[in-house]
Amino acid sequence: MTKKETTPRLTLVVPCYNEEPMLPTSARVLHDIMTRLITAQQITADSKILFVDDGSQDRTWGLITQLRHEDALFTGLKFSRNYGQEAALMAGMQVAHRYADLIITIDADLQDDPQLIFKMVAQAHAGFDIVYGVRNDRSTDTWFKRSTAEGFYWFMKKMGVELVPNHSDFRLMSRRAVAALMQFKESHPFIRGIIPQLGFPSTRLYYKRAPRQAGTSKYPLRKMIRFALDGLFSFSVAPIRAVLYAGIIICGGALAMLLWILIQHFRGMVVTGWSSIMLSLWFLGGFQLVAISIIGEYVGRSFTEAKHRPRFIIQTDTFTPAFTDTKSTVTEFHLDHQSIK
Ligand code: UDP
Ligand code: MG
Repeated sequence: MTKKETTPRLTLVVPCYNEEPMLPTSARVLHDIMTRLITAQQITADSKILFVDDGSQDRTWGLITQLRHEDALFTGLKFSRNYGQEAALMAGMQVAHRYADLIITIDADLQDDPQLIFKMVAQAHAGFDIVYGVRNDRSTDTWFKRSTAEGFYWFMKKMGVELVPNHSDFRLMSRRAVAALMQFKESHPFIRGIIPQLGFPSTRLYYKRAPRQAGTSKYPLRKMIRFALDGLFSFSVAPIRAVLYAGIIICGGALAMLLWILIQHFRGMVVTGWSSIMLSLWFLGGFQLVAISIIGEYVGRSFTEAKHRPRFIIQTDTFTPAFTDTKSTVTEFHLDHQSIK
């Protein structure tokens, strides 16, 4: 690892979906942290906080715009609609890595201890490309969330997917690590699964996750299940193999059944077996449906990937003009346009 010579330019990428109740507080806390880092000359004075508005229906974008007018530290990206947290993170990183040396992603509700940012930057100065924020205490989570999360990490490990347990999306990455991530062109990237595959010197920092201070969780059970399935199917072909193994076992069972039927036949007891027929009928029918749907899941995914659709559409970008054009007339046009909505 080589120690970096110059002061790095940092961008904090903050995905926001209907974060109106939380944003003013979060902005203040993050602003304070950035100012202290700038004063300590740990990062450059033109480092930025980049809020990515993931198609919020409330006043989130209005607040971001207001913050930007108050302080040049704040910038924003606005999606044309809601694309989900993963897309918001990818967009933020994609836009930010063109100008930033270091990128930290953090949730807008600041449940992940923002004070860890100081240590993350210090680790970057020490030469690490990826610094994972890892929770060492989930006592603030509900029992349900904790056990489903544990089950998820256990299952993914069994399926051969390498994840950093108890790490969500609070992490620091160097520009080259983000550039490597951007080479993964899949339309639904499972970021937490991809990053450990990038390699690069990486380290972990531990913290305790706080409960949400304002607003509500944007992850109802439905979205959590979808996220878990995305992780599974986009990273592992183990389910297809499981179908194969189950098929082989069932064929074995069928052979045993055949043997038994023959024996029964020669013993002259052919009319019996109504229950076994019904049982295998239902069981095989159900199994076949599950098997077909698992394969269908992969076919469906190939179909979506083959279309190469954009992962997100950015409606307004006030980050890039901060580095290219100070007048940013294009952005203002978009802002006016936005007020029409
Ligand atoms: N988020 C997003 N788009 C979505 C859902 C969530 O950008 O469709 C953001 C949200 O604003 C927050 C982060 O993702 O900054 C994590 O969401 P949340 O805190 O609701 O998740 P939880 O902490 O409950 O898992
Ligand atoms: Mg949260």
